[in-house]
Amino acid sequence: MAECITALEYEGGITAIDSGMVRPQMAACYLLETESTLAVVEAGNNDSADRILQVIASRGRSPQEVSHVIVTHVHLDHAGGAGKLMQLMPNATLVAHPRGARHLIDPSRLEASARAVYGDVQFDRMYGTLIPVAGERVIVMQDGDSLQLGQRRLEFIDTPGHARHHFCIWDEQSRGWFTGDTFGISYRELDTENGPFIFPTTTPIQFDPPALIASMERMMEKDPDNMYLTHFGRVQDVRRLAADMKLSVQQFADLGSRFDADKNREEKIQTEMMDWLTGRARNHGVGCSDTRLRDIFGNDVVLNTQGIEFWLDHGRNK
Ligand SMILES: [Zn+2]
Repeated sequence: MAECITALEYEGGITAIDSGMVRPQMAACYLLETESTLAVVEAGNNDSADRILQVIASRGRSPQEVSHVIVTHVHLDHAGGAGKLMQLMPNATLVAHPRGARHLIDPSRLEASARAVYGDVQFDRMYGTLIPVAGERVIVMQDGDSLQLGQRRLEFIDTPGHARHHFCIWDEQSRGWFTGDTFGISYRELDTENGPFIFPTTTPIQFDPPALIASMERMMEKDPDNMYLTHFGRVQDVRRLAADMKLSVQQFADLGSRFDADKNREEKIQTEMMDWLTGRARNHGVGCSDTRLRDIFGNDVVLNTQGIEFWLDHGRNK
């Protein structure tokens, strides 16, 4: 495969690798380097493995040096390629959330629920076959647990709100969080002179607005300098982004409640969310065409609306 892979290299031995899903710079996997060991955070899908191996090779390192593959949660844009990566990284241990581990060992339920969200055609195109991981190669990290990678110490905290099987990973060395989906989405194509643009991901089926806000507040207690987002790459200016995220989570929840009884609920939520996002992007100084902007947000608006509707029907009053 001779294709050119986007790999954004940051200080401290951290590289965001474009996992190649859907469109350029939509989803990332991260390579963490220390002198004695390597780790991968987020596994992308099965096709991402080649890209990760190419970046490892370009560093003069080998897949045998990877001691840990870590997935923030078991949604498939984060964990779909875990089984494939584990085949290619024979010395690696897979690190998962206590609620996620069994779904990586036996991915059949994961596959069924993802097919329900995406439909068979899109599922087959995006994920193909999910490869199970042997149970003895999987460890879980409870809230507060840590992991030593050479001189680098990673700390894990439970971060429900996007999903109940989600943890985030604190890297003391770079004073940054690997946020998975808890700190939302920030596409680099929406960067302006005002900095990054951010918005929440509320995909089905465990969106929980108060829990999401509480998880972000816990992350902010570390006073982080960096957030390494799966969608996509590192962002700084973290305090402003945290405020933007809180406002948007509240806005999305209100939007859902407002249209809950409407007979065209899905369409109304989608339209309002798209208008809110495009309006905020324009205020932020994003200059691309309306068509392009709606294209960038389109997929997320559909999935976010599904997640908000699920929350309205099942989660809100529990
Ligand atoms: Zn995701």
